[in-house]
Amino acid sequence: MSNKQTLLDQIKADILKNNVCPDLAKNATNLVVGDGNPNADIVFIGEAPGKNEDLQGLPFVGAAGKFLNEMLEAAGMERSDVYITNIVKYRPPNNRDPLPEEKKAFWPYLIHQLEAINPKIVVTLGRHSMEYFLPGMKISQIHGELKRITFGEKKLVIVPLFHPAAALYNGGMRQTLIDDFTKLPKIIEILEKERK
Ligand code: URA
Repeated sequence: MSNKQTLLDQIKADILKNNVCPDLAKNATNLVVGDGNPNADIVFIGEAPGKNEDLQGLPFVGAAGKFLNEMLEAAGMERSDVYITNIVKYRPPNNRDPLPEEKKAFWPYLIHQLEAINPKIVVTLGRHSMEYFLPGMKISQIHGELKRITFGEKKLVIVPLFHPAAALYNGGMRQTLIDDFTKLPKIIEILEKERK
């Protein structure tokens, strides 16, 4: 097992041990920590698990996940190339929006996940996962743009995108999201060139 996977397993154990969001945990079938390649260049961060995710213990396996898979394919990627997680890691009852205190409670664990994986870019899906990284910004104005932020000692590259569920039934937003997705490999190429 890779060292990064060991760190990710430890984060899962910490969430359980520290009893994060006990009210959500009580109603959930599974803790949905994340899934994918611990050595990924890209980490995608959604909002919170839905019904299918809660039942399977995996992120983005329902309708929004199917669309996410299609967009990954359009961009020449597979799920096994990337890592996918959510800001809130238990399903909120009836799929309500996660509460500010729920996002706050899970935030340190999300940061530990990013530290463990150390991806080249972090793609936020929707405003719930964007707002902590890019406070005060409007997703409609900055989607698909590369944003560099400094986080304590750490520098992160964030690319905010719309949430796939929001785009599922909205033709215009759907195409915008597909267009933004297909830019991701190019963004990684640009970052790699900068490093040389
Ligand atoms: N929507 C999300 O934000 N996350 C999931 O895991 C599924 C749907």
